[in-house]
Amino acid sequence: MGPHDGIERFTSPGKGRGMRALRDFRLGELLFTCPAYTCVLTVNERSNQCDHCFARKEGLSKCGKCKQAFYCNVDCQKGDWPMHKLECSSMCTYGQNWNPSETVRLTARILAKQKLHPERTSSERFLTVKEFESHLDKLDNEKKELIQTDIAALHHFYSKNLHYADNAALEVLFAQVNCNGFTIEDEELSHLGSAIFPDVALMNHSCCPNVIVTYKGTVAEIRAVQEITAGDEIFTSYIDLLYPTEDRNDRLKDSYFFTCDCKECTTKQKDPAKLEIRKLSEPPSPKTIRDMVKYARNVVEEFRRAKHYKTPSELLEMCELSIEKMGAVFEESNVYMLHMMYQSMGVCLYQQDWDGALKYGQKIIKPYR
Ligand SMILES: [Zn+2]
Ligand SMILES: [Zn+2]
Ligand SMILES: [Zn+2]
Repeated sequence: MGPHDGIERFTSPGKGRGMRALRDFRLGELLFTCPAYTCVLTVNERSNQCDHCFARKEGLSKCGKCKQAFYCNVDCQKGDWPMHKLECSSMCTYGQNWNPSETVRLTARILAKQKLHPERTSSERFLTVKEFESHLDKLDNEKKELIQTDIAALHHFYSKNLHYADNAALEVLFAQVNCNGFTIEDEELSHLGSAIFPDVALMNHSCCPNVIVTYKGTVAEIRAVQEITAGDEIFTSYIDLLYPTEDRNDRLKDSYFFTCDCKECTTKQKDPAKLEIRKLSEPPSPKTIRDMVKYARNVVEEFRRAKHYKTPSELLEMCELSIEKMGAVFEESNVYMLHMMYQSMGVCLYQQDWDGALKYGQKIIKPYR
């Protein structure tokens, strides 16, 4: 029996194509694995991990030419060359000004891979890259402009080494990457890179998923997090499940263009616990709660962007202000409070402020007891 014998592609009622179990799977059992069709190590992890196999180790050897790609050994360097050559000389030429986004870097690799390997790959047993949904007709102007910016960067940084399709085809490809690309994270959820896993992309979303995707190097492993019975559809989660229903569905709509109808979205059972409100003698009005949720969601998003340009002390101030404001309505176990406290802890750790980190750490741990 091969590793793919227990699952099949099928048409899921109301959802289009999906993946289904052909036999029972126990909790924790591996359903299938999918090697990356192509992947790219994030710039910040350079020299910590091998650019080719993502192994994390000391003493990696660097590309002699650009000195910016790092490898376990000659085999990894050779294996990566068809992809690294897209960037090696360009990085030398542009120096400090070499700054394509990770989406652009990944897309350049897809184009190179398609040329290098036009036949179906072992990552595409159930779904091919060509079949990816693009949802191009649903993109608003802002998203379309972002794609055009990416296309311009692709032309700017990769034109010497890539012969690519016309603008319309590139627009489709970038839209496909936006809704089918994966980010690879380690056990501590720090970002390692981006990748394409076609077979993994076949699975539909649920907020009560029955599988979880983890990564071993550049291979995705799909394991059962619930008992699965033969005939069940296989569901993964596309988003962070920490947040309440409305927030989750806005994220799904914005990135994947659908509204979820899973059990959790219909019953909203876990929302009250996630949105824990302070028990005051005079409870806050529904409008006050709604406004605070809106504020909290904005602050989470604002902070995510601010991380790229604000100083640690500015970031900490932003966290503290928001925690104080939200604290008037939310309990400390509220997910938005937890989120900002977690971010504060991260900033404290970065600044080596151990007392600050400990203060937030203890507050975060409490709700899990
Ligand atoms: Zn390696
Ligand atoms: Zn190089
Ligand atoms: Zn749902």
